[in-house]
Amino acid sequence: MKPLSRTVSPSITMSLDREARALIASGCDVINLTAGQVDLPMPEPGKEAIRRALSENRTGYIAATGSADVKDAVRRRTGRAEGEILLSAGAKPLLSAAVACLCGPGDDVLLPTPCYTSYPEMIRLAGANPVCVFGDPENRFTVSRAALERAATDRTKAILFNNPVNPTGTVYAKDELAEIVGFCRAHDLYLIADEVYGAFVYDVPFVSLYDFPDARERLILVDSASKSFAMAGLRLGWAVAPEPAASAIAGYLSHAVGCPCSLSERAAKAALEDDEAFSLRLREAFRKRRDLLFPLLKDIPGVRTERSDGAFYLWADVRGIEPDDAAFCRALLSEEGVALTPGSAFLCPGYVRIAYTHPEPVLAEAAARLKRFAAQYGKHAG
Ligand code: PMP
Ligand code: GLU
Repeated sequence: MKPLSRTVSPSITMSLDREARALIASGCDVINLTAGQVDLPMPEPGKEAIRRALSENRTGYIAATGSADVKDAVRRRTGRAEGEILLSAGAKPLLSAAVACLCGPGDDVLLPTPCYTSYPEMIRLAGANPVCVFGDPENRFTVSRAALERAATDRTKAILFNNPVNPTGTVYAKDELAEIVGFCRAHDLYLIADEVYGAFVYDVPFVSLYDFPDARERLILVDSASKSFAMAGLRLGWAVAPEPAASAIAGYLSHAVGCPCSLSERAAKAALEDDEAFSLRLREAFRKRRDLLFPLLKDIPGVRTERSDGAFYLWADVRGIEPDDAAFCRALLSEEGVALTPGSAFLCPGYVRIAYTHPEPVLAEAAARLKRFAAQYGKHAG
């Protein structure tokens, strides 16, 4: 057999989640804090819209980038009047299509790091080269303009920027975003922005990159119903992009994805047109969870963590217990039945990501187990 021309390793975040779920299904007492997946039910109007769409037999192909009325619902809810709206099967295909259409062989794509697991692969699959720019651990792992300037060359084509950040939970402030926009303008770069956690911001205002009018000519902004409407499995996301990028991305999606799911876009429309009560409830539920978990983790000797303002992750330096983050996670799982994601999945070894996607009592139990683990770890070695 001729060799494969490319191998693609599976998403670590998805694999670890599956492993933890398999252990739970086989009867093991495991608390799964790996995958970033909302555990609450999706909005009722969305469910009703799917039932209605099924009874109307809306099961055929739809337009490659979704139906006009759903795009209108995105515009009305988000206030995004400029640029084309594109719908697809979640944020992932939109991000992949954007990277593939805007970047190719010989192009560098700047990647603020730690970064979401799938970004480096998306960039490599486009034939381009991911260039990690490490965030400042003393400043919430944010990347500064100075750090980006040091990484920029004439091969740099785009930056793939995530805010709020998976895995750190960091939320960029308006002045920090202004620096990113200024940098992209100065180097004439595309700004591919992933704001799928925009609905999960707690004590600070959330500023979207769309709020910078001088960014819009180069901004491909991606969002999704996966987190904000607890619809991850229904696969529905949207993007706003200027021409000619929007047409290129639409063309790509028409070949690679076909169209969004005809039922899921109905559910997303109903959720977008519903009042804001669902979003508020969701945000408050996650704020409470963070406020319970953070103080418990902060007091564990050997674990260094900061309270983060967004997404549903806490990010902890565990080198005080075990320098190898993967070994830390393996031992924690086997000794105490708590599953976390090692920081190396986000190109930042020595850290772990803790997804607070469970009710408070479960999080309290996970923290107690982690504390016991930290106290015991290494004591029996040798
Ligand atoms: N971007 C980030 C930062 C994520 O954490 C995820 C995880 N779901 C995605 C994109 C993918 O989102 P979707 O489910 O909408 O494809
Ligand atoms: N985005 C979530 C995570 O980071 C879900 C898994 C995935 O799609 O990568 O855990």
